[in-house]
Amino acid sequence: TSQLTDFTSTLARWEAERPDSVAIRFGGTARTWSELARRVRQNAAAQRAAGLRPGDRVAVLDFNHPACLELTLACAQIGTANAVVNFRLAPPEIVYVVNDAAARILFVGPEFAAAVAQVRDQLPTVERVIQVGGADDEYEAWLAAHRPDPEVHPAHPDDCFVQLYTSGTTGFPKGAMLTHRGMLAHAENCAVDFRIDPDARVQVAMPLYHVGGTSYALITISAGAQIVMLRLPDPATVLEVLESERITHTFLVPALMAVMAQVPGAADHDFSALKAVTYGASPMPLPVMRACLELFPGVMHQVYGMTEACGVVSALGPEDHEDPAVAHRLVSAGRPIHNVEIEIRDPATGGPVPRGEVGEIWVRTQQLMRGYWGKPDATAAAITPDGWLRSGDGGYVDADGYVYVTDRIKDMIISGGENIYPAEIERVLAEHPTVADVAVIGVPDDRWGEVPKAVVVPAPGCEVDTEALLAYCRERLAGFKCPKSVDVAEELPRNLTGKVLKKNLREPYWEGRERRLV
Ligand code: ATP
Repeated sequence: TSQLTDFTSTLARWEAERPDSVAIRFGGTARTWSELARRVRQNAAAQRAAGLRPGDRVAVLDFNHPACLELTLACAQIGTANAVVNFRLAPPEIVYVVNDAAARILFVGPEFAAAVAQVRDQLPTVERVIQVGGADDEYEAWLAAHRPDPEVHPAHPDDCFVQLYTSGTTGFPKGAMLTHRGMLAHAENCAVDFRIDPDARVQVAMPLYHVGGTSYALITISAGAQIVMLRLPDPATVLEVLESERITHTFLVPALMAVMAQVPGAADHDFSALKAVTYGASPMPLPVMRACLELFPGVMHQVYGMTEACGVVSALGPEDHEDPAVAHRLVSAGRPIHNVEIEIRDPATGGPVPRGEVGEIWVRTQQLMRGYWGKPDATAAAITPDGWLRSGDGGYVDADGYVYVTDRIKDMIISGGENIYPAEIERVLAEHPTVADVAVIGVPDDRWGEVPKAVVVPAPGCEVDTEALLAYCRERLAGFKCPKSVDVAEELPRNLTGKVLKKNLREPYWEGRERRLV
């Protein structure tokens, strides 16, 4: 483990040790560590010339581009912070996030220039919009106009240099202030499980607005390895790049892998350089898991985590994926990574819960965010005075110390006083041959308070027989857990990391009624 205390020192180390090795590849360009370090110092100089001071924010609204990472690293150097905006948001949501961050400069990809121009007058804190890439690449000109800034703001370990927004599946997006201490701890704690060495070639396919993009890129920077960045996680491109760039490590999400496994000829690629296919951010359906174990034998690696902890808090290694003696662990999220404590607590009282029983997953580690930007109440609700993060996830820990994530506590169904975990029902239905995708939600019921309803997407060419599905559940689940009804849908509303937006699915059924919150 390193003794470095901020990301500027990390970058300086690789600039000194491997100046001519490639640090980052993107499209047709490859930049060495010395080029990257120089561009980061130019970026820092340009930010300072624009009047930005420690504590100020810039924001990026773009598909993946190395400029976003350069900005983050430049922020680390001068004490500013990069608020990365989810590019899938609708214009009013973009306005909300940019204003929430009070960004002074907004960097936009060419695809977003028109949308931003339309809401420009609703962004009072933004002094300048700078286009990144495309025919009118203002970012390159902005960099070129500045000599590298040698000045480094002495970073405090608790300075925030990158602000990532929670996906908003549970309300308005909140900006998690991620710090040098948190990110460096995350990189070091992950190093044990991820085994990324300086010769690794790491595919950064997931969006940089998500921890699975930015934190994964920062782990790679911390390891001195090479990043191969994709603009967008197109399934066929992800597969092609794994082969053509001889990728050793990648991070993907289950929804993307489900599509990848169906790409014609997927298995014909040469994946022999791969050492780890890391996946997480949402539950992995067993049928997708099986397809991926065939496609990527011996390298499947699950992570469980959240933005508020800079990313990963537990991991399930390849060994646990392959050993038939421990096949039950395939539905677990593995064991806490190095230097991370996980406990199961009663969500109402915060008291302990006996081993094996379901409660809320609590996490304590140096990786935790400093708080939600501008939201002290939400921060106090999320992190206890003795440093535990309340994840909002239901789960339990088995006798061997493996963590099982059952569901978001808010998605849990309480029916006649019994707790029902939608994930358990979803796992059963996902195995049915006529079902391609499924989500289970709680809908109001006069007698039981709420009851489970399944929303299913039929497999290609299949008709869904709802009576048959209900009977299938009754054979495999306790009566109170069986869905009382089935809706058929063409697709499920998901965000880009593959989480089903259950709030959207529930909404029409709860109109005018209050759903209890734990
Ligand atoms: P919001 O709080 O607004 O809903 P979010 O929590 O969805 O945002 P993220 O930080 O991206 O935003 O997601 C973290 C959550 O993702 C975890 O709390 C958990 O519910 C889910 N998750 C992450 N990894 C896994 C995994 N391996 N298996 C199951 N669920 C996972």
